[in-house]
Amino acid sequence: MNDETMITVENLKVHFVTWKGVVKALDGVTFEIRKNETLGLVGETGCGKSVTSLSIMNLIPPTDGTVVEGHIYFENIDMTNPLVNMKKPDVWLKYGRKGKVKLKYNRRRYVKRQEFVNKIRGKKIAMIFQEPMTALNPVLKIGYQLTEPLIYHSKNELAMRILSRIDINNANFSDMVDAVLNNKEDKIKSYLEDPKLKPLMEQLRSIMFRKDLTRLQKSERMNNIRNDKPLNSLERKYLEELVENNGHERFFWRFPIIHRIVFKRIIMEAERKAMELLNLVNIYNADIILKEYPHELSGGMRQRVMIAMALANDPKLLIADEPTTALDVTTQAQILDLMKDLKYRIGSSILFITHDLGVIADIADRVAVMYAGNIVEIGPKDDIFYKPKHPYTQGLLKSIPTNKTMKEKLHVIPGSIPNLVNPPAGCRFHPRCPHAMEICTREKPVMKEIEKDHYVACWLY
Ligand code: SF4
Repeated sequence: MNDETMITVENLKVHFVTWKGVVKALDGVTFEIRKNETLGLVGETGCGKSVTSLSIMNLIPPTDGTVVEGHIYFENIDMTNPLVNMKKPDVWLKYGRKGKVKLKYNRRRYVKRQEFVNKIRGKKIAMIFQEPMTALNPVLKIGYQLTEPLIYHSKNELAMRILSRIDINNANFSDMVDAVLNNKEDKIKSYLEDPKLKPLMEQLRSIMFRKDLTRLQKSERMNNIRNDKPLNSLERKYLEELVENNGHERFFWRFPIIHRIVFKRIIMEAERKAMELLNLVNIYNADIILKEYPHELSGGMRQRVMIAMALANDPKLLIADEPTTALDVTTQAQILDLMKDLKYRIGSSILFITHDLGVIADIADRVAVMYAGNIVEIGPKDDIFYKPKHPYTQGLLKSIPTNKTMKEKLHVIPGSIPNLVNPPAGCRFHPRCPHAMEICTREKPVMKEIEKDHYVACWLY
């Protein structure tokens, strides 16, 4: 793992135990995502794309499956075993007599691991789930679901936002508004470098991104930003302590009566930030949406809410698992534009999972192609689209309908994804491959670099 790498997945093997047998869903997946890049992960349904993302997030249910081998390194933490002092695994496969396999897990150790991962999940790594209707909690209002990760992870940042707004003097504030309105890059940069003024500057800039407002409206909104009630001494002390102690509260503040008084400001600020996040994903009647339940929103809106939730804490790595599948084409285009825009603004890395190659062509920098639990080809987007090497990638690209193929029969890859309980030996693609050789049925091909940064796992090379 070097400085340019955000996350490294190394030889990852994930197995699920079912009544039909052990499903070898991932069979040695290896790839890395670099800083500020979008890696597109493509492949047919059932090839292991979502399992890869769930493994990174530590979200594989312990009653269904587990990582049996391999590592996921994120910021020098092995996400498959983040608690180095935990000598025994929390979830493991037990092989019994007659080849019977059971999944066992130790609840105490599992909860401990999840508690640790909770500090990273939603803060440094966030995920946009495939189905917004099932991923959002149907009995909680959007406002609660959006503010919860903010309050859980970023109390100190919320406190800083309040103090930054209240403590700034009028002259400095006017200068900041002027810098944002007239796009004075140098001044904006210098304000962003000051930890006390950064939260306010970000708030001002979030208004600038709203496309539905005129310049005059933007300037009015910026000036209205400082409409807070003055802080009383108890509130000020609490907020200052939160900033100093990186979000940790002393026991004194947890007394219910005191907590109720001082915590109100944090909740209000979280709601304010939630509205800004909704504006960021082009939902402009945010104050109404916050009071609604998921079923009251359209599919596109729910998906945007999911994206806003994922972006709440400016994650370093954003995993988007087919975020546009359930959407109509217009909303799809808006969401893709939005994600490109966010990558540019927040500077995070994105793992974009989809089976839609058109979407990948639009958004990805590099592309990884998955087949039956393996990465078979990975490389820069142009290489994958214009010079595909693996027979599976070639088949996938041929099956995209084009003007040329409109009048002909559409190309299909013969056969279907193999049963992963008993996957084919050697190269898992060999039963469907037009170039299969004898060695392909025996030995698994290893990944080889055939051009700069372009890797392929195939015996043809
Ligand atoms: Fe086809 Fe063999 Fe290459 Fe697999 S290793 S894709 S079977 S040629």
